[in-house]
Amino acid sequence: MPDLLELRGLDAFYGDFQALFGIAAAVPAGRVAAIIGANGAGKSTLLKTVAGLIQAPRRDAVLFDGEPIGGLPAHELVARGIALVPEGRRLFPSLSVEENLLIGGRVRRPGPWSLEAIYSLFPVLAERRHVPGPALSGGQQQMVAIGRALMSNPRLLLCDEISLGLAPVVVRDIYARLPGLTAQGMALVIVEQDVSQALAAADRVFCLREGRVVLEGPATSVTREAVASAYFGV
Ligand code: ATP
Repeated sequence: MPDLLELRGLDAFYGDFQALFGIAAAVPAGRVAAIIGANGAGKSTLLKTVAGLIQAPRRDAVLFDGEPIGGLPAHELVARGIALVPEGRRLFPSLSVEENLLIGGRVRRPGPWSLEAIYSLFPVLAERRHVPGPALSGGQQQMVAIGRALMSNPRLLLCDEISLGLAPVVVRDIYARLPGLTAQGMALVIVEQDVSQALAAADRVFCLREGRVVLEGPATSVTREAVASAYFGV
């Protein structure tokens, strides 16, 4: 499979503070990459930089389907097929499930995702389509956040801590739907605090520490011991 996303020496900054240092990574179409690492390692910054919410300093530090896209604005990246499920879900609180989903479809590429497709992926959302976001359970809110991102028909879905604050049974339910997305060629990059979940869901794992990739490998061959020492640098 050719790489859909390739990072080549990606740096990121908040003003004078450098949060990412020369990140190199590649994610083929149809595959899942997991980004793991301790709090503050730079995981969210990495996703936000790929999604255009933080500006990459160099155009050729991020390649998408072979095209240099670093530093392009977020709306342009959505139009090219990159969608972000942000940490904390960030639903519009005064809007219903369906209205939140429709907002995700304001910029749409051609593709399989529609309201009906989202409702068949997450049937509980169809039952609750007129309910405002804050009245949903945490898991249902997360499903809306994923559905809202899918509405743009992305080729690359970036998911920031989708399991945060959810019961294990709900996390398993959401993760069980992800292989259906990659089967059609979508690539996923997931940021995940739960290392077991990351290793189970991903094809390839990247562990960040202090803004650098300190461990990388196929999820089947990365051991928990290697992850533990990469996390803390021991
Ligand atoms: P967490 O699991 O806590 O979300 P993370 O691995 O996603 O951690 P980031 O949120 O990417 O880490 O943060 C990486 C570094 O950048 C940290 O040192 C953090 O303090 C810093 N940082 C994050 N957001 C900002 C910001 N808006 N302004 C300045 N520094 C920031």
